[in-house]
Amino acid sequence: SGTLYIVPTPIGNLGDISQRAIDVLANVDWVAAEDTRHSKRLFDHLGLRVRSLSLHQHNESQRSELLCNHLRNGQSVALVSDAGTPLISDPGYVLVQHCREQGVPVTALPGPCAAITALSASGLPTDKFQFVGFLPVKQQALNEAVKALAAAPLTSVCYESPRRVTATLNALAEHCAKGQQIVLAKELTKAFESYVSGDAETILTWFEEDERRLKGEFVLMIAPAPDTDQAISPEALALLQALGGLLP
Ligand code: SAM
Repeated sequence: SGTLYIVPTPIGNLGDISQRAIDVLANVDWVAAEDTRHSKRLFDHLGLRVRSLSLHQHNESQRSELLCNHLRNGQSVALVSDAGTPLISDPGYVLVQHCREQGVPVTALPGPCAAITALSASGLPTDKFQFVGFLPVKQQALNEAVKALAAAPLTSVCYESPRRVTATLNALAEHCAKGQQIVLAKELTKAFESYVSGDAETILTWFEEDERRLKGEFVLMIAPAPDTDQAISPEALALLQALGGLLP
């Protein structure tokens, strides 16, 4: 059967498309796109004429069956989303799962992903991290999610929209430990790329200073919870041990 290729596309800078992504897009029988009109702009820019069909949240199961049939008939398919890596807070999971079940080969090209791009330049620990996608919309669920992120012993990475970023920052202000760092990455790879870091209040103030700053795309990252073992200094610990020896 044919191969399903997962093809990442730029998240703001068209120069970030890889040579291999171009080659695959130029040679596959079908391109499944989250939004065919949106992706056509990229294909036009690359001078590619592709046969595309849509695969989004609302038609994913039905389209996955159709595409799987094409694949099993020997045709090849590339999956793209509007920006970045498909399946990462984007459609495609149902299709890939379907292909795996049917023994259709799936291969992913490495490429742009906002979460990884932001994390690598954040200055936060990268040895262990969790990606949690978009946080819940409802206030109580948001609060619980944020509480868990603030207590996690590893860096947390999430996607944020301009409409919700302040609600999330307010929840973080409530749940983060003193000095626990937050980094907001904005408009990655674009002309106005920026990083703002500090505690939640610092970032909220940065938005209040100029409301236009709320426009754009964001990745929000939270430092690991401070290690409570280290909250006691070695000197204090030695003193405690010495005093312990004096107890009856
Ligand atoms: N699949 C994409 C990826 O690999 O990054 C993510 C798709 S998700 C629907 C869109 C979200 O990704 C945005 O709301 C924003 O949080 C983040 N994002 C995408 N492009 C970005 C950029 N250039 N700068 C900052 N965040 C970005």
